[in-house]
Amino acid sequence: MNPIRIKDKDFVLSISDADIQQAVKRVGEAINRDLADKNPLFICVLNGAFMFAGDLMKVVNIPCEITFIKLSSYDGLYSTGAVKEIIGLNESVVGRNVVVVEDIVDTGVTMEKILGSLRAKGANEIHVATFLQKPDALQRDIQVDYVAMKIPSRFIVGYGLDYDGYGRNLKDIYTVID
Ligand code: 5GP
Ligand code: MG
Repeated sequence: MNPIRIKDKDFVLSISDADIQQAVKRVGEAINRDLADKNPLFICVLNGAFMFAGDLMKVVNIPCEITFIKLSSYDGLYSTGAVKEIIGLNESVVGRNVVVVEDIVDTGVTMEKILGSLRAKGANEIHVATFLQKPDALQRDIQVDYVAMKIPSRFIVGYGLDYDGYGRNLKDIYTVID
């Protein structure tokens, strides 16, 4: 398989579209079984999870709502570094059973922030569905309920995930060559 080039890096095909679709179907079917009577609110974390959320929600066939959030990332005046907050959540999550739909859980820092914020906003059950997880990189004690695929701790692009803004539109997953 020929490498593809994005900006200054080469990437090699590592997960095919067909394998992705199969894994996403498994997650969707598990959610249909587990959350059928929970009236869940799915919360898709943009930008990276847009493709996973689109495919997942075509498999999910239980009564549910879906909404979209972003994480604001800004460098404040604090030496502690970037602060991330949820933006764009217009729906009340008070008493709701929610499913956070993410592209990838790497160290778990981002997901820990999201979960803390949803808890503070009064969500009832909080579930996590991530397309990818890098188990070796996990540094936070968070519960990830649904994982479509586990991968090694290498940088990947495609299926919604980008390298410097590019590569999100690839239907397969590619791993960086170094
Ligand atoms: P965490 O906070 O779990 O360390 O990182 C989560 C975020 O890091 C993801 O939402 C994603 O934006 C980014 N990320 C982690 N690993 C990768 C990767 O291999 N490729 C890309 N494109 N983004 C990644
Ligand atoms: Mg993400």
